[in-house]
Amino acid sequence: MTGDARAPRILDGAALAQRIRAEVARGCQRLEQGRGIVPGLTVVLVGEDPASQIYVRNKEKAAREAGMRSGVERLPAMTGEAGLLQVVERLNRDPAVHGILVQLPLPGAIDVHRVIESVDPGKDVDGFHPLNGGRLLAGLPGPLPCTPAGILRLLKHHEVPLAGRHAVVLGRSNIVGKPMALLLLREHCTVTICHSKTVGLAEVAASAHILVAAIGRPALVTGEFIKRGAAVVDVGIHRVTDEATCRRLYGDDAQRLAAVRDRGATLVGDVHPLEARARAGWLAPVPGGVGPLTIALLLENTLAAAERSGA
Ligand code: NAD
Repeated sequence: MTGDARAPRILDGAALAQRIRAEVARGCQRLEQGRGIVPGLTVVLVGEDPASQIYVRNKEKAAREAGMRSGVERLPAMTGEAGLLQVVERLNRDPAVHGILVQLPLPGAIDVHRVIESVDPGKDVDGFHPLNGGRLLAGLPGPLPCTPAGILRLLKHHEVPLAGRHAVVLGRSNIVGKPMALLLLREHCTVTICHSKTVGLAEVAASAHILVAAIGRPALVTGEFIKRGAAVVDVGIHRVTDEATCRRLYGDDAQRLAAVRDRGATLVGDVHPLEARARAGWLAPVPGGVGPLTIALLLENTLAAAERSGA
């Protein structure tokens, strides 16, 4: 993995996601024809969070397109923990539901850990249940959290060397950073996890052959964070709504500027796009990198749960 002045190879998550989704659709067909099972995914959505509404719609549509039975349980924002737990319990018992996903974030008064623990681990297609987290830690098979699992697939698909390399994961959340670090460790990377208290963040990041940025800070990862030739995976998603910021991030990129002018926004990740292009050897950009893979892996987890059911 040596540095050069060429543009980075793009880690195209959209293309890989399409392939995975087509494979899942074939798997659904086989399962229905062979055993009469139609995989079922139910998303539970509490409240009216606009971003969550979009995510849930996309998940529902993707599941349907793959040939799954897909449903959404919409609960009012004032639903309490007990009410939500009752719904999860009902879905746990429903044999037509193979995958349950409780859309996060949940309204403040609800204990998110309790809700995650209430989902049947066999139906936990998000891979967030502590039992499945423990399986990941122990190196046992089980559903993997979709975003980090998708990132690993993307790196492997593009044959980014992993074994023995230094991987730095920026962010230690339960849904991205921590499982990402464990998956990279499983691939024999030497792994460093950084977070908001890390001293010398840029310096640590710049020693990485593989840099995964999942910190939720727009374009914080600038050129000085990136070793020449490194594989850079941008997990963040943020809206850029003003032209000056757009120019700072994307220069004179006409498409981006037009998006801000005509549609009111363009997207940026946790990585500064222009500076990353000048240094990275591989780049999973925003959009089109990690984002599409999260849903594809969710569908794969749901198919796997359905295949295990009644077996
Ligand atoms: P989070 O807020 O739960 O965790 C952020 C982590 O970053 C924390 O561990 C924190 O310690 C660390 N952090 C925050 N500020 C930092 C700083 N200045 N320096 C170093 N570390 C810092 O976020 P998350 O759920 O892990 O998501 C991270 C980003 O990824 C968000 O932008 C989110 O929207 C995005 N995301 C995208 C997908 C996808 O499918 N593409 C999926 C999940 C999350």
